[in-house]
This record gives sequence, structure tokens and C-alpha cells, in this order.
Amino acid sequence: MKYLLVLAVVMVAFYVWRNNRVTDRSQKSRQPPTSSGASRLPVVMVACQHCGTHLPLNDTVQGALGPYCSADHRRLKEGGPA
Ligand SMILES: [Zn+2]
Repeated sequence: MKYLLVLAVVMVAFYVWRNNRVTDRSQKSRQPPTSSGASRLPVVMVACQHCGTHLPLNDTVQGALGPYCSADHRRLKEGGPA
């Protein structure tokens, strides 16, 4: 009778373990492969050539000597027209 109880516990444990495996697999396959690909791209940070502020490359103002945080700093550094 004792062995029957152990066998029952083992069977229940195996049943739960198998169910967990199936749930894990279905959850993984349910995730879309490219959910947020664009937002996960690393943002390139560059320093302003005048004040040294770091900012994303897309937000910089390109000058002859490099990127700037604003057109004002490009003018201050490179002496362009006001
Ligand atoms: Zn600046």
C-alpha cells in the first residue's frame, strides 16, 4: 500500500511536469518574433563639439567639425553666419 502511494505521487509529479513543459513551449511559440525590433536598436550617442552634451545622433546638427546639440553651438564653434 505504501508503494502504491509513492507511485501515485510520482505519477502526479510527472503529469504536472509534463503540463508545465507543454505550457512553456506554447508560450514561447506565441511570442511574435519581431515585436519591437525597431525600438531595440541601439541609439548612437555623440557629444556636442561645443558644450560636450551627449545626445542621440538623430537629434544632432551636423557641422564641418562634427555634430552639435544645436545650430547655435555650431555657429559659436565654427563662426558661421548669425
Ligand atoms: Zn552644445
